[in-house]
Amino acid sequence: MTAASPPEVLRAPLVVEFPFTRSLGPVQSAFLTGLREKTVLGVKTSDGRVVVPPVEYDPVTSEEVRALVEVAATGTVTTWAWNDHPRPHQPLDTPFAWALVRLDGADTALLHALDALGPEAVRTGMRVRVRWAAERTGAITDIACFEPFDGPAAEAGPAAHDGVFQDPVTGIVAEARLDYVYSPGRAQTAYINALSERRTVGERCPSCHKVYVPPRGACPTCGVATTDRVEVGPAGTVTTFCIVNIKAKGLDIDVPYVYAHIALDGAGLALHGRIGGIPYDQVRMGLRVEPVWTEGGRYPDHYRPTGEPDADYDAYKELI
Ligand SMILES: [Zn+2]
Repeated sequence: MTAASPPEVLRAPLVVEFPFTRSLGPVQSAFLTGLREKTVLGVKTSDGRVVVPPVEYDPVTSEEVRALVEVAATGTVTTWAWNDHPRPHQPLDTPFAWALVRLDGADTALLHALDALGPEAVRTGMRVRVRWAAERTGAITDIACFEPFDGPAAEAGPAAHDGVFQDPVTGIVAEARLDYVYSPGRAQTAYINALSERRTVGERCPSCHKVYVPPRGACPTCGVATTDRVEVGPAGTVTTFCIVNIKAKGLDIDVPYVYAHIALDGAGLALHGRIGGIPYDQVRMGLRVEPVWTEGGRYPDHYRPTGEPDADYDAYKELI
């Protein structure tokens, strides 16, 4: 006897990417502009500690912090980890250490890359200094990395600094990107495969009998696997909705439009979808809708009214 081969579980690359634009308050503006000018600034907090990189609010009193001080560009490694396989856009393209460096004059440590020949060349307590980037724009990458340094510790304490620079940096754009392979698992693979036949399948909990759509493979309430696969819909009921007035980038839909929670017939919870085929201001809770597929679509393009009478509130009040 041979074991049945397990059903193929889907996998696909997934990239989530967006630019995150952030304005800088006076403290972060001074810190990043300072880096551009080869000056490392921290803040002095109410208990006399010097925090680098600076914080905007006192960690003890929560008061706003404004007392900027300059610290040295030399420091001591307080802990580290070796990175054998640098990834794109990391500070160095050769293996390096991620290190926490307490700069001379500071009481806290700054995370950055440390350029070293190998892990045997790195130790906690070693002395390092900033290697400045050749081109500096007012960003943490103006510190290209740290490098080993044999010289003495800076003797003087941190010096007060007014944080005033010509042409200060007032905002940054941080590119956020998650690049990974996603596997939806056995339950959602079945859901996605059914969608390719324009059917919607969920899974019923054997304990509480709730039908999950899309299925996740387990009932979060009962903590048991959901194995009983059931087809739901295709029609359903709008349980709640919102009117979208902001046009999304890359989405070719005229505003305003309606996005709704739709409880497909037989499902124990609502999924969401766009409502079309009816003026946006006539969409209502209880509206009966059905999916509209477009050629080659992998899921319903939108849902439109079926023309049936509205569902009674009692019929869907547990699904909102
Ligand atoms: Zn359950």
